[in-house]
Amino acid sequence: MKDHNFNPESLMMTYGYKPELSEGAIKCPIFQTSTFVFKTAEEGKAFFELAYGLREKSEKEELGLIYSRINNPNLEILENRLCLWDKADDCAVFESGMSAISTVLLEFLKPGDLLVYSNPVYGGTDHFIHHFLDKIGVDTIGVMPNQTIEEVEEMIEASGKSDKLAMIYLETPANPTNDIVDIEKFSQIAVKYSSEERKTLVAVDNTYMGPLWQHPLQCGADLVLYSATKYIGGHSDLIAGAVLGNAELMIRVKTLRTFLGNMVSPHTAWLLLRSLETLKVRMDQQTQNAQLVADYLEKHPKIEKVHYLGLLEEGTESYEIYKKQCSAPGAMVSFDIVGGEKEAFMFLNNLKLMKLAVSLGGTESLSEHPKTMTHAGVDEAQRQQMNITDQLVRLSIGVESAKDLIWDLEQALEKVDIANALEVETV
Ligand SMILES: *Cc1c(COP(=O)(O)O)cnc(C)c1O
Repeated sequence: MKDHNFNPESLMMTYGYKPELSEGAIKCPIFQTSTFVFKTAEEGKAFFELAYGLREKSEKEELGLIYSRINNPNLEILENRLCLWDKADDCAVFESGMSAISTVLLEFLKPGDLLVYSNPVYGGTDHFIHHFLDKIGVDTIGVMPNQTIEEVEEMIEASGKSDKLAMIYLETPANPTNDIVDIEKFSQIAVKYSSEERKTLVAVDNTYMGPLWQHPLQCGADLVLYSATKYIGGHSDLIAGAVLGNAELMIRVKTLRTFLGNMVSPHTAWLLLRSLETLKVRMDQQTQNAQLVADYLEKHPKIEKVHYLGLLEEGTESYEIYKKQCSAPGAMVSFDIVGGEKEAFMFLNNLKLMKLAVSLGGTESLSEHPKTMTHAGVDEAQRQQMNITDQLVRLSIGVESAKDLIWDLEQALEKVDIANALEVETV
């Protein structure tokens, strides 16, 4: 028989774990320990030499276990498994998505640098960029969803800081509007502004799509980031984050993580190992449901527009990017209800099966109002430009029966009185 490459979903139960090192246990135990015993003093010395980069690793040598802020089997196995989905060299897991994002921005940006980022970005990321990076003197340029690549280049040139462009940070598809940007084209801009001494990095927050259907590293990005709280965790019972990339960049990310001490705990890593076993089946079901929900909403008279990748029109630029970059439309759906905040709230308050809560990617369906909830902190003028309006409602679709979800949407929409909204429109 020819050699066979297993698909990631087939490896999520076993990869990177050796039962013989844990009394034959089929499942990886929780290594709930702060420190690890060295066999000899010489071994302890050798491990520290590697951990602190005091000498090169010899062939086949691996960094031994030292202390759970530096390394721990639950974290290492989880990192090895996450690498399979994105075909990355290495991964670092964090105690939250925000700690993954802020560690990357802190490691690769310094005062005087320029950061270009796509809008909209996650509310927490938006806050870190505008409040923290601004404070330490990092200049930033935000790109709006309707701006072209040529306009982006013009803005970089006009800033007079093109030689300081250290990073392009993208969130695609974007939370909460599902706007998408072309990772390959932004990667070409990064190459153009890179010099011998400094490579302009491209980092992509891939949380909204999840690790199955979009692989930013394969599109030219240098780093991919996740809130593992969302699809990777998938059960709304933990907070965690991850960063993946090539070995050279990941050494830097892991070193800063060691000194900030913001790694995930062994217990949370163990929960994530359990989550990964069902990532593919969950996401298949969630995406299938999301398409059915989007198709239903699109035809509903009380809904003006549905924002879903599975409804993009052929021939549009977004459709072309989607086809190039993603292999499925994901499970996040948002829509503009006819009316405004009042009608949106009427809808949300009448759902019976879907819960009203922020966060996303879990097995249960969730609904929320981005303008007054997740994106309440975003500048109002910018929010309008990004189409985060009173009318916008966001849904995270879970694994329930699609029939039940559609029943719930139908009965909640029935209770929404749009008479007032229509009157206002005709005045
Ligand atoms: C939730 C989220 C984050 C932040 O992750 P936490 O785990 O809550 O810290 C970052 N980016 C996106 C797109 C998210 O949805």
